[in-house]
Amino acid sequence: MDDCIFCKIARHEIPAQVVYEDDDLLAFRDLKPAAPVHVLIIPKKHISMLTHMTEEDGALIGKVMLTAKNLAASLDVADSGFRVVVNQGAQAGQSVFHIHFHLLGGRAMSWPPG
Ligand code: AMP
Repeated sequence: MDDCIFCKIARHEIPAQVVYEDDDLLAFRDLKPAAPVHVLIIPKKHISMLTHMTEEDGALIGKVMLTAKNLAASLDVADSGFRVVVNQGAQAGQSVFHIHFHLLGGRAMSWPPG
C-alpha cells in the first residue's frame, strides 16, 4: 500500500525506533507512548484491520502474539504484567488502518479501558 504510513515504516521509508524485525513482522516504539513501554507490532503484509484478517493470516497473527510475549520479556515487563491491545474500527480508537498490536507495560493499568 503506497500511502499507508505503517507500510512505509515496514519498508524503512520513514524512520521509527525499531525494537524487533524479521521477514514477516516489525515492532517499533509508539510515537506518543501511553506507557513506559509502548511498542507497536505489525505484520509487514498490509491487513487494514482485524476484521480483514483471513484464515491464511492465522499463522502470521499467531506469530505476532508470540513476538509480543518475547518482546515483553526483552523489554522487562513480562513479570510485572503487560497488555496487548488491538483497536478495531474508529469507535474503538483505531486511527491507523494497518493492523497493529499495542504492547503496553511498565505501569499499573485499570479496567475497563476508557
Ligand atoms: P490506533 O489508535 O490503535 O490506530 O494506534 C495508532 C498508534 O500509532 C497511535 O498510538 C500513534 O501514536 C501511533 N503512531 C502513529 N504514527 C506513528 C509513527 N509514525 N511512528 C510510531 N507510532 C505512530
